[in-house]
Amino acid sequence: MTAVSPVQEDVVASDRGASLLAIAAEVASCVKCGLSAHRTVTVPGEGSLDPPVLFVGEGPGAEEDRTGRPFVGAAGQYLDTWLTPIGLARSRCFIANCVKCRPPQNREPHPDEIGACLPYLERQIAVIKPKVICCLGRIAAQTLLGTASSLGALRGKVHERHGFPVVVTYHPSAVLRDKAGLRKPVWDDLQLLRSLLQK
Ligand code: SF4
Repeated sequence: MTAVSPVQEDVVASDRGASLLAIAAEVASCVKCGLSAHRTVTVPGEGSLDPPVLFVGEGPGAEEDRTGRPFVGAAGQYLDTWLTPIGLARSRCFIANCVKCRPPQNREPHPDEIGACLPYLERQIAVIKPKVICCLGRIAAQTLLGTASSLGALRGKVHERHGFPVVVTYHPSAVLRDKAGLRKPVWDDLQLLRSLLQK
C-alpha cells in the first residue's frame, strides 16, 4: 500500500471539507420538496471529516430548524450521553438526518420528501466514508436499508449498505418518552456498535 504523507492527508481532508461545504451550499438553496416552504434554515448535518460513526436521524426539530445544527435539542443532548460509554465523542462523529428541512409540527417526513432529499445524504456518506452507520429510529432505518420492516425486526443485527456496516437503534426522543422500556435494547445496540468499532 502506498504511504500517505501528512501533507497528502491534509489535502485529502481539505478536499472532503470542500465537498461537504458544496453539498451544504446546495442544500441551503434547495426547493426540491415542499419542506422548503416551512423551514427557517436548512440543517445539512455536521461533524468529523473522518468519522467512526455516522448517526442518521429522521429530520430537524424546532431547535435544529432555528440553529441549523443537527441534534441540538433535548434528543441531541440525550444522544450525547450515549456516546461516552462506548468511547465516542460527538466531535469525532458525523450527525445528519434523512431530510434537511424541518417537517411542520414535527410530523414524519413523507416518502416523496425523503426521496428528494436522500441524494444529499448519499453524497455526504460517499465523502466521509464512515466506519459504521447508525440509524436512529424507524424512518432512518427503513430509508437507509430500503425496507418496510419494523425497527424491532431491524435492530440487534449488522446490516450492510453500499459496503458500509449499518446498525439500527431507537431514536433518542423515543427513548426519552419511554425510558423504562427502551433503555436496555438501546444499550444492547450500542454494544453492537462498539464491537464493530473495535474491529
Ligand atoms: S428537505 Fe431536502 S429535498 Fe426537501 S427542500 Fe429541504 S433540502 Fe431540499
